[in-house]
Amino acid sequence: METITSLDWDQVIEEATRILCDYIRIDTTNPPGNELAGAEYLQKICEREGIEVEIFSSAANRANLLARLIGNGPKEPIILLSHIDVVGAEKSEWCVDPFAGVVKEEYIWGRGSLDCKGLGVMELMSLILLRRNQIKLKRDIILLATADEETGGEMGAGWMVRNHAEKLKAKFALNEGGVGMKGGIGGRDAFAPCFGEKGPCWIRLTAEGLPGHGSMPSKDNANDILINALGRLQGYDYPLRGGRWIKEVLLYFAHKESLSRSLLLRLLASPLLSIILFFLNGSLSKNKRFNAMLRNTVALTNLRAGFKENVIPSRSEAILDCRLLPGASTTRFIRDLQKIISDQRIKAEIIKNYDASQSPLDTEFFEVIETVLRRNSPQALVMPILAPGFTDSRWLREQGLVAYGLIPCLLSSEEIDSIHGRDERLSLESFKLGIKNIYEICLDLCAS
Ligand SMILES: [Zn+2]
Repeated sequence: METITSLDWDQVIEEATRILCDYIRIDTTNPPGNELAGAEYLQKICEREGIEVEIFSSAANRANLLARLIGNGPKEPIILLSHIDVVGAEKSEWCVDPFAGVVKEEYIWGRGSLDCKGLGVMELMSLILLRRNQIKLKRDIILLATADEETGGEMGAGWMVRNHAEKLKAKFALNEGGVGMKGGIGGRDAFAPCFGEKGPCWIRLTAEGLPGHGSMPSKDNANDILINALGRLQGYDYPLRGGRWIKEVLLYFAHKESLSRSLLLRLLASPLLSIILFFLNGSLSKNKRFNAMLRNTVALTNLRAGFKENVIPSRSEAILDCRLLPGASTTRFIRDLQKIISDQRIKAEIIKNYDASQSPLDTEFFEVIETVLRRNSPQALVMPILAPGFTDSRWLREQGLVAYGLIPCLLSSEEIDSIHGRDERLSLESFKLGIKNIYEICLDLCAS
């Protein structure tokens, strides 16, 4: 088997850095996206390497790229997934031009250097190395770079699933979603591969009332009706739920520690778990990430009402960004919200809703990921998590694939905070570990 030691890693990183910097320079801010330019750039590299590649255009200037290394065996393919589009960047707030793709102080700087062009290049480079080293594969390895992830994926992964499902026939997928963190858990390095995601449910609440002159207020002011309703929602303590994902994590650790599955299941069903959760509630809820992982959440994100200082409007509205845990029912959630509001004058309407998604942890793929992470970072913990946000993984899980989200580098907290923020950057050290890990995951899972 080809091993990492036989590769000149300095040369690999130099080449990958050049590719990533050029990729960052292609501005794919979404909206509008313009992912076609990014896809054509990746296509050229694949063609140069003799890798089979196709572009699928979902609209003018919107495109998805699919490259494939063909395996000879009976095993189902794996997809290495990333997205081409990036979120916007305010140039004046950055230390460097966000679309200049510069290397400075051992970091690659630029919008997308982590999310998600960095991951895309780690995957592409792994594909290139497998091809150049003529590794025989027992399953196809598919590189999929999509459009439109940052606004929901309807023109990207969602469009591919609807229009080219046959091209995405695979068993496993590696995508963004989780990261490795330097000193992440109790000062210890930790990788947090994400195996599930909460489902967004965006709701518009509308209050209608009596319009009139601001000098003569009445009890039917739409703004008052809405504010009272929002006050009741704010004051409500959304219950802590262990949920399906916690059970999966516990079963995974039980399996690793050779604990009996039936004993653990009995424990989970017992009132003991509720008691433990009750006592953990206070401390866990203080951390906003843990809090989001353990309950359905409601965030008030928009308020729209009024147009003039002295006019009481007839209507006012609020948008709630609600996130539901795997296994939660949207219908029941909305019914509960209406009960909390308990005011017939408020209408609730769903604007967008995707189901939460979750993959099992007891798979060959997860075992390989864990083995490779431990091999290259023996000091690090591996802690599977649920992501509060959503990614393209949900489209593939819907198709029956097992999808995990992990940028497999050990990132500093500054690097993690730069995602969607200012001065997004990826250290060369992180980049190298990421490429090594993905390359080895492919070797361990796919080499025949
Ligand atoms: Zn992303």
